[in-house]
Amino acid sequence: MTVAPRPSILAVEPYVGGESKLPGVNRIVKLSSNEGAFGPPPGAVAAITKVATEAHRYPDGGATALREAIGARHGLDPARIVCGNGSDELIALLIMAYGGEGTELIMSAYGFQMYELTGLWAGCRVIKVPERDLTADVDAMLAAVGPRTKLVFLTNPNNPTGTLLPQSEVARLRAGLRDDILLAIDSAYAEYVTDPGYDAGATIVDATDNTVMLRTFSKIYGLGGMRLGWAYASPAIVDVLGRVRGPFNVNAAAAAAGIAALAEPGWVERSVAHNTEWRRRMTEALGAIGLPVRPSEGNFVLVDFRDGDRAARADAHLRSRGLIVRGMKGYGLPRYLRVTIGNAEECEMVIEALTDFVRTDG
Ligand SMILES: *Cc1c(COP(=O)(O)O)cnc(C)c1O
Repeated sequence: MTVAPRPSILAVEPYVGGESKLPGVNRIVKLSSNEGAFGPPPGAVAAITKVATEAHRYPDGGATALREAIGARHGLDPARIVCGNGSDELIALLIMAYGGEGTELIMSAYGFQMYELTGLWAGCRVIKVPERDLTADVDAMLAAVGPRTKLVFLTNPNNPTGTLLPQSEVARLRAGLRDDILLAIDSAYAEYVTDPGYDAGATIVDATDNTVMLRTFSKIYGLGGMRLGWAYASPAIVDVLGRVRGPFNVNAAAAAAGIAALAEPGWVERSVAHNTEWRRRMTEALGAIGLPVRPSEGNFVLVDFRDGDRAARADAHLRSRGLIVRGMKGYGLPRYLRVTIGNAEECEMVIEALTDFVRTDG
């Protein structure tokens, strides 16, 4: 006899993040984790450096200044914001608090993988609902609801497909769910959306008491290494998250970096302008060489190689040039590769490498 975790823990394949190294290749271009094209905001780097001399002090457990800065930026009540060690932590806290053994968690088939992994760790039954044209299917998600359903997760726009569920459909999903089912709208890529009808979730959060919006500093603010995300929810859900989170779950460097990132002049505008331009150029350039790209609302594109073997060959070809993108086998989409929109030079490198691949691979 030896120690053993709950059976659900060992039944889950561990999460595999985007790779960052290639043996024998000097210059690596990492386009596998949607980390933002420009690195961290300079003001955030300065802020992280500055707090280093105070590293012996515990951080403000309430992340008050950070929540106020987020609230001011987004026109939201700071009292209804909870910060976390990445939105991954908030996903886990929601599942721990509202899900667990004997409950069901519903997500769309190609929704963000962490919902499935975390739900399984917690002992939930995870139901992955088939999508229609790589987009969440509201009718099918509602049809999957059972008496034990406690949580529904929606990524919008979705990672890895880049697709957007129209606001009317998100509202229809909420309206069709029982009141005792928590809907989490994960808007990790909200800033990049150009669809004028888009709402990142706050409207539905305000109109209900059982909906959460999840946001992150890991994508547009280039702070994935700091681990900083936030939730906007009703007072009752905020109270629950406050009970289950660690008292110092957001460290001092992350909080300082987040505040500085929000204050960085023109950062979001410049990042969005770049992303919109290069997302379009990548889509057009790859489409022109016979590689269809899903219209994307995120900072990445999902490139279709039509079959899994060809996608794997393309992946190997990109790697031989130091370009790391994300294979989609683990998501059940083996014929695709997901490519983050990097800086202009990096995008050009991808287009050139795939042009060469198509020419030589036939
Ligand atoms: C990247 C990502 C996250 C994770 O964000 P962190 O704040 O870094 O934990 C959450 N949801 C989606 C859909 C993502 O793509």
